[in-house]
Parts: sequence; structure tokens; C-alpha cells
Amino acid sequence: MVREISSGGVVLQRRDGEWWLAVIQPPQAVQRPAKPAPAGAEKRILALPKGLVDAGEKPAETALREVYEETGIRAQIVTKLANIKYVYTRTWAGGERVFKIVSFYLMAYRSGRINQVSEAMRIEVAQALWIKLQDAPQMLAYKGEKQMVRKAMEYLHAHPEL
Ligand code: ATP
Repeated sequence: MVREISSGGVVLQRRDGEWWLAVIQPPQAVQRPAKPAPAGAEKRILALPKGLVDAGEKPAETALREVYEETGIRAQIVTKLANIKYVYTRTWAGGERVFKIVSFYLMAYRSGRINQVSEAMRIEVAQALWIKLQDAPQMLAYKGEKQMVRKAMEYLHAHPEL
């Protein structure tokens, strides 16, 4: 089976007495159906920022680069969280099955405005936004990413100084 190795970030910021998480909306999530959905019924896919590890790149470097490219924000790594694994079928190039491993890092926001990304990045990201960390397990689309957020929450509980 084809393999892909990616790396990404659970980027947190404390604001107004709450923890916020940086998420992205992949572009397919905003394609409008022929008939508009009733108000409030449109489904947004929310995911964590991530991307393929380039040749010669360390996974932690990839995670920081992808966070910046996909969300417009600069972050610093706090700790490695875990790897997630999944299998998907390509909708292009012969429809191969892909076994994918994604390393996730817990990160602290440092600078930049979310969603200020290059025009080229709009192909990969419809929108980047902050959501409340406590809402993230319900709002994120993928089980593995929900688990990463729960791990980040556990880390915060164990490190109240953050
Ligand atoms: P990358 O962000 O690593 O460059 P990509 O955008 O090319 O990757 P994925 O985000 O891995 O590709 O998406 C490929 C397929 O896998 C899509 O159908 C997507 O819905 C699905 N997918 C993405 N993340 C997960 C996940 N955590 N668990 C299960 N399926 C996922």
C-alpha cells in the first residue's frame, strides 16, 4: 500500500479566560450544493492544520511550517502528542489505497493573524479560524484528531502553569 507521512499541530491560545484551538476548513467543505441547505444545516468539515513531511525535513519543522502556511500563525512546540494512522482511497491517480501516519505536536500560539494565508494556500484551506478548545472534540471531523485534542486537554490539566 502507498504510504504518506504528514505532521501537524494542535495550536492553542489563551484569550478571555478560555483556551482556543486553531482549525482549518478544507476547501471541499464549502462547495455549495445545487440547492442551498436550510439555514444552519450546512456541514463544515473542521480539521487540524497538517501536511506532508518534505524530504530532509524533520517532522517538528513540517508541523510548524504547515501551521504557518495553512493558518497564517506562528507557533512554538510545547510537546509531541502522538501519531494517528488512517487509510483512505485516493480520488485521483488510479484510486490507490493510502496508509497514512500523521505526527501531532502541541503548540503555543506566538504571533500572526489567523486566516491571513497566501492566495496559493486557498487551494488547501478555505478558511482558518479559532474555536473554543472545549467545543473541539464535537466539532472536529476525524476521530484521530478528536483524540489529539483530548490529549492536549489532559496536558493542560497536568500543566496548569501554561
Ligand atoms: P496533508 O494535509 O497531509 O497534505 P491531504 O490534504 O492530501 O494531506 P488528507 O487530509 O489525509 O490529505 O485527506 C485525504 C483523505 O483522508 C480525505 O478523504 C480525508 O477526508 C481523509 N482524512 C483526513 N484526515 C483524516 C483522519 N484523521 N482520519 C480519517 N480520514 C481522514
